Amino acid sequence: MERRSFIKHTGLAGILAASSAPVFAQAAPEVKWRLASSFPKSLDTIFGAAEVISKRVAASTNNKFQIQTFAGGEIVPPFGVVDAVQNGTIQCAHTAPYYFFGKDPTFAFGCAIPFGMNYRQQNAWMYHGGGMQLMREFYKDYNIVNFPAGNTGAQMGGFFRKEIKTPADFKGLKMRIGGTGGLPLQKLGVIPQQIPGGDIYPALEKGTIDAAEWVGPYDDEKLGLYKVAKYYYYPGWWEGGPELDLFVNAKAYQDLPKDYQSILEGACYEANVDMMAKYDALNPAALKKLIAGGVKLAPFSNEILAACYKATTETYEEISEKNAKFKKIYEPWKAFRNDQIAWFQVSENRFDNFMIATGRMSQRGPSK
Ligand code: CA
Repeated sequence: MERRSFIKHTGLAGILAASSAPVFAQAAPEVKWRLASSFPKSLDTIFGAAEVISKRVAASTNNKFQIQTFAGGEIVPPFGVVDAVQNGTIQCAHTAPYYFFGKDPTFAFGCAIPFGMNYRQQNAWMYHGGGMQLMREFYKDYNIVNFPAGNTGAQMGGFFRKEIKTPADFKGLKMRIGGTGGLPLQKLGVIPQQIPGGDIYPALEKGTIDAAEWVGPYDDEKLGLYKVAKYYYYPGWWEGGPELDLFVNAKAYQDLPKDYQSILEGACYEANVDMMAKYDALNPAALKKLIAGGVKLAPFSNEILAACYKATTETYEEISEKNAKFKKIYEPWKAFRNDQIAWFQVSENRFDNFMIATGRMSQRGPSK
């Protein structure tokens, strides 16, 4: 049909309506959400992920979809965010899922469990190894839709007031430790404490606890833990690559327009990459600073790691016997982790070890 006869048949108003309909019919609605983080604002890395998500979502929707971010304790206590998302008090929370192992240890698979996976392996499991489906099914009971949204990479083992030379040195130690790491350590005599990030320093300073782990050099230095406990051990074997998540209330998520859902999902992917990159970029300088400040850096001995590994395996078997939800994820998770270890030792590990050895030889980093 020629343009002229088309106008004749439909009239100008008809043409305007037809041509403008796709724009106005799907006008972007204003959506305002509240996000409660479990972390203090002073930690730009781990709290920062919430802001990365909020900024990307606003920038991608011409500010129509706004997520206001609140630090731990501002509107919801750091460990109260699952309840708040579950009952719809807030639309979403940024947190470490393993904090909620007291509700069910199965939460910890969505974050980290002792002698688990590193950052890349955790991503592989979640995005392409069946982990997301398993966790989404589990979180349904809590009205939660989860999105991986950050990772710290392998953590440090924490600051101790006294030297830890053998497994026996753990006996009677009151230690702040995140997630399920405290369960196997209990078998070695540790009295684990769950304390939010913002409250760790005063507890260690007052002597309420004897040791505390948080994340790694950059965050740990900010919390000032080295000022009251000099011995800094590694690795944090209970957190090889802990994932942080955006927990979204299922109804709030379903009510979002499809494009906002997609934008939110993309923003969480971004936060997942951005946080790890930030930690990796910032940790080396922070570690040097800590050592220059008198921190005694040391690895946990093989004897200690072996004892912890044994206690961990026993713990998993015990939980699996009692908890069908845990067992359902643990079995495929374990097979996936073991395959990952077998793969990573081939090329990645050989490459890393050679580069580390080269750095040692040159004393200035890898030779040119
Ligand atoms: Ca930790």
